[in-house]
Amino acid sequence: MFETIFARARRKSPWVLHFDCGSCNGCDIEVIACLTPVYDVERFGIINVGNPMHADVLLVTGTVNHRNKKVLRNLYEQMPSPRVVVAIGSCGLTGGIFRESYNVVGGVDKVIPVDVYVPGCPARPEAIIDGVMLGLKKLGEAKPCGNR
Ligand code: SF4
Repeated sequence: MFETIFARARRKSPWVLHFDCGSCNGCDIEVIACLTPVYDVERFGIINVGNPMHADVLLVTGTVNHRNKKVLRNLYEQMPSPRVVVAIGSCGLTGGIFRESYNVVGGVDKVIPVDVYVPGCPARPEAIIDGVMLGLKKLGEAKPCGNR
């Protein structure tokens, strides 16, 4: 019974954590725009948090490189299950324009599992919101399975 209540609460008021792997800031600004009154994601109950232990959804922008891949993995592992990962922008999907650089690992899915891919350079706020809503559908279907 409690699991049903928790699952419903997660879907109705998901908490998101944003991590920038090393973008040009174009996609970060679009993520921040989603939190402003113009796009107002709080109308969907979405709240931005700074602690991965409180987050249901991880939004990742930018190219993963050899320096930040451990940080990304660490954040992901601290999030309680079920959790959703949304990769945002060409850089988050494939490494984008930086993909052939010497220190670049590639897209987010080279390090952690990705549930939703939001393309664009930068990704538009509407597409990011759509991606989060798609992720919530997956969150609703997922079964809780411990913290890892
Ligand atoms: S996808 Fe484009 S806008 Fe987004 S971080 Fe990469 S270069 Fe910048």
